[in-house]
Amino acid sequence: MLPLLLILNEIADGISEREWALPATAFESDDSEIEFSGQISVRAEVRRDPGFLSIQISAMGPIVCSCARCLEVIADQVQAESSMVFEEGKDQDPSNPVWRAEEGAIDLSGDVRDILVLELPSKPLCRADCRGLCIGCGANLNQGACACRTDETDPRWAALRALRGPSPEAPDA
Ligand SMILES: [Zn+2]
Ligand SMILES: [Zn+2]
Repeated sequence: MLPLLLILNEIADGISEREWALPATAFESDDSEIEFSGQISVRAEVRRDPGFLSIQISAMGPIVCSCARCLEVIADQVQAESSMVFEEGKDQDPSNPVWRAEEGAIDLSGDVRDILVLELPSKPLCRADCRGLCIGCGANLNQGACACRTDETDPRWAALRALRGPSPEAPDA
């Protein structure tokens, strides 16, 4: 992963801004189902006070994944924001986010990746009312009814359904 560095010497007191545009390969995810693609834009608003850095990060970028119902490839976008405070000289305490003054820089890449990954859809859909695949023949039902569907409209099935009552909606809705 490419470093996303805030060089402390370059940060003036008060508020300043930094921007980066990184290739998606810098954010490759362990989640093989969803990949970042193209370019990730990162913006940081940095406020420097004596002994502290407060950072507001926003990041956005395109992703590619498959619809959880019909498996069509989806191009989507994720956007994430976070804020964090780094305190100078507390680098002995691992529970406290710190800036390591001796290194002269803060690497934000891990933080940016984490907040983006949190925003990845757990169950991406090509559209909210995606009809998914036919469990009988595998046809993509967004593209029209399949042969199995035609069978279901057979009056004998209709009579059977009437006996059973209304059929449940899509199981994973
Ligand atoms: Zn779909
Ligand atoms: Zn079918």
